[in-house]
Amino acid sequence: MSDVQHTCVSCGQTHEGLYCHVCGEKRLDPNDRKLKYYLHQLVSAVTFADNKAWRTLRSVIVNPGKLSLDYAAGRRVSYTAPVSLFFIGNLIYFLIPILETFDSSLYVQTQMMPYKSWIMPSVEGRLADRSISMDEYAVAYNAASTSNAKLLLITMVFLISIGFAVVAMKKNRYFGDHFIMSLEVNIYNLFVNTIALALLIFPIVLIGQLAGADLRPYLNDQLFTVLILFSLIYFLFRSFRTMYACTTGGAAWRTVFMLAWVAVSLQAYRFILFWVTFYTT
Ligand SMILES: [Zn+2]
Repeated sequence: MSDVQHTCVSCGQTHEGLYCHVCGEKRLDPNDRKLKYYLHQLVSAVTFADNKAWRTLRSVIVNPGKLSLDYAAGRRVSYTAPVSLFFIGNLIYFLIPILETFDSSLYVQTQMMPYKSWIMPSVEGRLADRSISMDEYAVAYNAASTSNAKLLLITMVFLISIGFAVVAMKKNRYFGDHFIMSLEVNIYNLFVNTIALALLIFPIVLIGQLAGADLRPYLNDQLFTVLILFSLIYFLFRSFRTMYACTTGGAAWRTVFMLAWVAVSLQAYRFILFWVTFYTT
């Protein structure tokens, strides 16, 4: 079969073997046009049953930094593109919105954020212009904030990649390498610290209710913050060891720096989220 020349239907190049060496198009197999083939694709897309996606996610969880290291070195075929995995996580997360890590209500924005005094005059001006109360405005604001948070999560990826670029400045890498590392952190954070955590809470609360105990007061923000903190320490430390080949000490101080950077990035993200939501409501 390998000595037979084929003409690529996409770019016109003649080539041997199954794939075009210029554009990567696969030589069409009659089976690729059958309904069964498309149904299989549909099932894979809907159930996330693609082996590649699972293997990529597994690598992110059990071997932090390896996906980024392999991607930067050009070992890519065995992985699902990190950008795609990020958007899959983004979509799943917003279909089960239990934890509000990324979304912020008008109350949180105007009462609890460090920049609250910068935004309060604008909010008060808005309320006066429209002659409405804070509670009335909050209804429209909060609904818009939830959907904006979904669209703006990618800004967290850019913000965090700047942190990696700063902390690994001397590692002689492209900014794109730090961007992939940032995507990997965000994938981990979405799948482990939000989706898995949310899915874990459901049965725990349910079992508590069956046993006649209300466990919800114990499953509070402080508990989640501590869990997420330890989870991120594990991920960041391992990543600095693997992706940037840091020593134990080098990985340790960079982990501390990045934890602070993530916290600052989250504030910056919420600040951007506020203004986008403010101008669209
Ligand atoms: Zn081609």
